[in-house]
Amino acid sequence: MLVNSVTTTVVTLLLFKFIFENILHFINNYHILLHRKKIPHGFETFIDLPTYQNSVDYTLVKSNFSSFCGAWSLVFDIFLIFSGILPFLLQTGFNVFGNKNFGQAVTFLSIHFILSLFWIPFSWWRQFRLEDFFGFNRSTQNIFWTDKAKEYLLSFVFGFPIFYIIAWFFQSFPRSWWLWAWAILFIFQITMVIIYPLLILPLFNKLTPLPDGELKERLMQLAQTTQFPINKIFTMDGSKRSAHSNAFFIGLEKFRHIVLYDTLIEQMTTEEIAAVLAHEIGHYKHQHIRTNLIVEGVYSFLGFGILYYLSSRHWFLESFGFQTEYTLVPLILIFSIAISGITFWIDPFFNYLSRKHEYQADRFTADTLGQTEPLISSLRKLHKENLSNLAPHLIFSTFHYSHPTLLEREIALQNPTPDDHRTKA
Ligand SMILES: [Zn+2]
Repeated sequence: MLVNSVTTTVVTLLLFKFIFENILHFINNYHILLHRKKIPHGFETFIDLPTYQNSVDYTLVKSNFSSFCGAWSLVFDIFLIFSGILPFLLQTGFNVFGNKNFGQAVTFLSIHFILSLFWIPFSWWRQFRLEDFFGFNRSTQNIFWTDKAKEYLLSFVFGFPIFYIIAWFFQSFPRSWWLWAWAILFIFQITMVIIYPLLILPLFNKLTPLPDGELKERLMQLAQTTQFPINKIFTMDGSKRSAHSNAFFIGLEKFRHIVLYDTLIEQMTTEEIAAVLAHEIGHYKHQHIRTNLIVEGVYSFLGFGILYYLSSRHWFLESFGFQTEYTLVPLILIFSIAISGITFWIDPFFNYLSRKHEYQADRFTADTLGQTEPLISSLRKLHKENLSNLAPHLIFSTFHYSHPTLLEREIALQNPTPDDHRTKA
């Protein structure tokens, strides 16, 4: 048993987060149960009582499931920290693969793989029990397991060279390795934006060019009036796995494509889909993608700074039962377990930033289309079809919602702030 001041501090942070998260769930569940009998004011026209109550039940079941996952995660992390299993797995990996850069990379990926296996039953249950019960599951056992195999294969294909290079820098540049590691991951992230639609997305989904017709014409015209060049519009067979709907961009600049879920096309009118697209263009026009990239870059820079600090403190890894000679693999393993006890408290800041972006993109949509109606009806449909929680408790949404609630968005759309008028003028 590795009980000492470092391990108990880490476990206390994780425990504190777990307790606080459950208080949040409790407050939110109590709040929505209290309002279960009556549709929230303003939404009576677009949702009926049974559908609304179904959305409340869906929220409650998801909340309980999330609490259960949180409890399992806590127990699992405590086991990993105190039992000494990680130093054992590390030593076994090094015995088999060696402790040079190759051995380190393979050992790290193998341990990562083993630990992730314990989460598969949860994702299976979520898909085939929880989502299925509410009619969202369209996946099959075959698709599920093939997806898992592809995901593991990809994490090895990309993870191996990245870890290998970082391990090399770690050994060759003991003082500046963390700056190199940070830069490598940053470049990798940007490269993925280009590679993902070309190589990875087609492994999981089929993209079909949107056929000529009213919808394609309208979306192309919208792209032209907003001076937002797009190359192609695709539909994606999202319905292969789930009835949830979505739309997104892929690629950069001239190679930018729009992808619409087939479920979205089924559910919405042309003008509503145009509103969804205008909202996404709004994100681009307000440079949100760039802002997010910079914010994430700064955030991960701090993370690597902490990692470097810890790498030069022998007591840190020794507290977890590791010998200090091979510090990179255990350092990342321990860091990834401990860090969630800290990042959880920073999430509200990211949510705040993201919500601000959503308001701006919504305002852009209203200004571009010259009306708020298509966006409001598309948002209502998205919420209704996805059984989203219409009235979460404020403290819960502060910690967990990256988007404003439907009510908040509608109010903001109908009451442009003086600030908005200024940007319009
Ligand atoms: Zn958005």
